[in-house]
Amino acid sequence: VVEIGTPDRAVVTTCAYCGVGCTFRAEMRGEELVRMVPWKDGKANRGHSCVKGRFAWGYARHQDRILNPMIRASVDEPWREVSWDEAIAHVASEFRRIQARYGRNSVGGITSSRCTNEETFLVQKLIRQGFGNNNVDTCARVCHSPTGYGLKTTFGTSAGTQDFDSVMQSDVIMVIGANPTDGHPVFASRMKKRLRQGAKLIVIDPRRIDLVKSPHVEATHHLPLRPGTNVAMLTAMAHVIVTEKLYDEPFIRARCDWDEFEDWAAFVAQPARSPEAIEPLTGVRADDVRAAARLYATGGNGAIYYGLGVTEHSQGSSTVMAIANLAMATGNIGREGVGVNPLRGQNNVQGACDMGSFPHEYSGYRHVSDDATRKLFEDAWGVALDSEPGLRIPNMLDAATEGAFKAIFIQGEDILQSDPNTHHVAAGLAAMECVVVQDLFLNETANYAHVFLPGSTFLEKDGTFTNAERRIQRVRKVMAPLNGYGDWEIVQLVAHAMGLDWTYDHPSQIMDEIAALTPTFAHVSYDALEALGSLQWPANNAAPLGTPTMHLDGFARGKGKFVVTDYVPTDEKTGPRFPLLLTTGRILSHYNVGAQTRRTANAAWHPEDRLEIHPSDAENRGIKDGDWVSLKSRAGETTLRALITDRVAPGVVYTTFHHPETQANVITTDFSDWATNCPEYKVTAVQVGLSNGP
Ligand code: SF4
Repeated sequence: VVEIGTPDRAVVTTCAYCGVGCTFRAEMRGEELVRMVPWKDGKANRGHSCVKGRFAWGYARHQDRILNPMIRASVDEPWREVSWDEAIAHVASEFRRIQARYGRNSVGGITSSRCTNEETFLVQKLIRQGFGNNNVDTCARVCHSPTGYGLKTTFGTSAGTQDFDSVMQSDVIMVIGANPTDGHPVFASRMKKRLRQGAKLIVIDPRRIDLVKSPHVEATHHLPLRPGTNVAMLTAMAHVIVTEKLYDEPFIRARCDWDEFEDWAAFVAQPARSPEAIEPLTGVRADDVRAAARLYATGGNGAIYYGLGVTEHSQGSSTVMAIANLAMATGNIGREGVGVNPLRGQNNVQGACDMGSFPHEYSGYRHVSDDATRKLFEDAWGVALDSEPGLRIPNMLDAATEGAFKAIFIQGEDILQSDPNTHHVAAGLAAMECVVVQDLFLNETANYAHVFLPGSTFLEKDGTFTNAERRIQRVRKVMAPLNGYGDWEIVQLVAHAMGLDWTYDHPSQIMDEIAALTPTFAHVSYDALEALGSLQWPANNAAPLGTPTMHLDGFARGKGKFVVTDYVPTDEKTGPRFPLLLTTGRILSHYNVGAQTRRTANAAWHPEDRLEIHPSDAENRGIKDGDWVSLKSRAGETTLRALITDRVAPGVVYTTFHHPETQANVITTDFSDWATNCPEYKVTAVQVGLSNGP
């Protein structure tokens, strides 16, 4: 029992874990957080929460936090604590030196989906205005970049179409490549409530996730497809909808390009794309696919929710567009209860993307080559801006190993642990002359850093996060930054040292600048957020109070665009040496690489990652439950313990990736989405065998 004391004040703020965006009353005693109480007026959570937001905040005062800046001349030397002045001056002089020697494009940076909109906006501004290039990327590169590409192409906006409440109007809910119970628990509860009221459920997932059968909820159809065959499956569903004339012709004629629809319909109607034809590929019975397609097309309001099981594939963008095609073909878009909804992983992955963190886009998803948009930013920032897209994260690492990219500023992301092919990431970082890491803890990436700038937690700063339903919510400082500065202040210090005349006294001023430069944010201000509680973008003259449901009368791009999405098998093949397919996911109590949750009491609930393996595959290998096993791929090898379960099908194995010892990304491949380079985390050919342990 821990004596926590009686609170003497409370501040409403937003959870910094997942994209649901629950709000809490942070109850404080002096500068100590006593407890987090789910906020009953929170529009995303309505008084609910999960075990992460409610209990896993102790990392803020964990002894591992680094509170003083550190530098070292080389990664072989010990760290040396320095003053903030010395650290910031060193960063600025190193970036200037490297650009003078190797050229303007030899440096870049990575923004964080864990940080606020305002911090993210400042990092991309520092790179564009201060470094003079577009070499900025974000950790969305490795999760939802295909969502950005796919939904922008088909609908015109890189975001989900509905608010969370919309699910209560759905008659058919289709969940693809997502496990809301573990990944987005508070939204999952709302979805289950609707299912208990009688809505039908289709689950498309290689694994028998909780939603397939849990107390009071059972999927009408579970399509346990082979990892990597999403596009084939969705095209087969489209085949049924087209050949059985279940599509919504009046909607398509009114809202979409009819000629493009006809081209798409002719493609999907080919016999080679029927459920019967793809059954050997997906491993799913054709009758089940036909029944699921009929239910989605004719069952009333049909809503699709998807996650990283859609995006983290070599055909991630194609899968997102295949989903959009289904929604348009059946008229399931543009009203409550329907739509296409990416379940965003990180608390502010939507916001990081909105803020111009991509190398080809300014805030509001406007291309850097667009002259009018670029002039807007040039006039505001007083510099000429580069019209050429910059480097994505994998391109930065490639360029580093080739000697052309020499310095990087990484805010709030542990790319050595979270990005694919760990050996390649390490080689890229090792080849750079200056790696600056800003984080809470000395993470794995910091092993390759020359400068470490302490970061601050969400409890120590003001700002905003944007959740999966485009809802912008306030983050409020509940205690003074332990390191002396909020992250936005640290970026401003670097900007000053680089000679930029930024004059922000408070994050609200940064939001005012965002609103002035971003049409979809035109009505967003801290005053508006105080008055309304939150705002869903677009919030502007056309929608002063925000936009819960998008594309009501027309798509953001005008006519909805059908895109032919041909199934292309991944280059990652199984064979005699690597006969099983590995896919990955999360568990309720932990978050991503576990940097925060492992430093809280939640660690006890899930102390290690396990490899789920089907009983038949385990028996063939002489593996018993709890045995240590080696997991080998063409890229590498790691060791973990086995969990024998029929949640996975024969031929498929599964693990979470919350613990660094698992080193899941040592074995993931270099393959990535054709449009966005999002890594193919969800399909790796592996062999599993008994091991003596690590
Ligand atoms: Fe809500 Fe997600 Fe935080 Fe859990 S982790 S409390 S679901 S925002």
